[in-house]
Amino acid sequence: MASSGQKVVLITGCSSGIGLRIAVLLAKDEKKRYHVIATMRDLKKKDKLVEAAGDAYGKTLMLLPLDVCSDESVKQCINSVKDRHIDILINNAGVGLLGPVESISIEEMKRVFETNFFGVVRMIKEVMPDMKKRRAGHVVVMSSVMGLQGVVFNDVYTASKFAMEGFCESMAVQLLKFNVHLSMIEPGPVHTEFETKMMEDVAKMEYPGADADTVRYFKDVYLPSSKDIFEAMGQTPEDIAKCTKKVIE
Ligand code: NDP
Repeated sequence: MASSGQKVVLITGCSSGIGLRIAVLLAKDEKKRYHVIATMRDLKKKDKLVEAAGDAYGKTLMLLPLDVCSDESVKQCINSVKDRHIDILINNAGVGLLGPVESISIEEMKRVFETNFFGVVRMIKEVMPDMKKRRAGHVVVMSSVMGLQGVVFNDVYTASKFAMEGFCESMAVQLLKFNVHLSMIEPGPVHTEFETKMMEDVAKMEYPGADADTVRYFKDVYLPSSKDIFEAMGQTPEDIAKCTKKVIE
């Protein structure tokens, strides 16, 4: 349980990557300012987080199951937090999807929106009444540079992040009236399992119906230059965790 003066921080998608690092960094805060509720949809994946958290596990860091695509799971998770009191909500869970629209089913596209867009909306809807009542709170959303600019064959992922940017920009103004802050973080490339999965998807990618010049541009220019950018400028999950900590401080 949070001790007095500690802020309760709930983070989504802590089984790997950026979410895991944010959870560990906040739980290991020198001044013990945060009581971290690290959530993940499958608690069988907890080992990496528990190991990285070390002594903080069970003290400043606890675990809860949460699938942001499920109304029921979101409700259960928030209801199991004492008094439903969350000071800081960090919406980190997200999935990518790469490929020409013709090769992607509507079901796959919906899964991306269910996670990246409605997952965030569900969480915000659930924590908002308490934050508004207390006239305090901070919601952080992990967007992407692809929430600001379209990228070839990333149409659906980009659309999901654009949708979230629009939703949050609109919400932020309304929430400020209740002294609730909403921040968006827009990372460029980050070395996580997300990147690995993307590269695996690229290897299997087919291009039905796509224009030959676009495919050539994607394979010969975009992919090699993305690789170079990743190597030269790619950030680590720790970098994004530090940035997130600064945003909430
Ligand atoms: P990872 O794939 O390492 O982590 C994604 C996390 O989201 C995992 O914990 C995953 O859980 C979780 N997740 C997926 N679906 C759900 C769900 N339905 N409910 C709960 N959790 C879920 O990727 P990153 O750490 O890189 O990504 C984190 C965020 O950062 C994402 O929103 C992504 O869009 C964003 N981002 C990433 C960039 C990058 O280059 N890596 C760049 C810009 C933004 P599980 O293990 O169960 O799949």
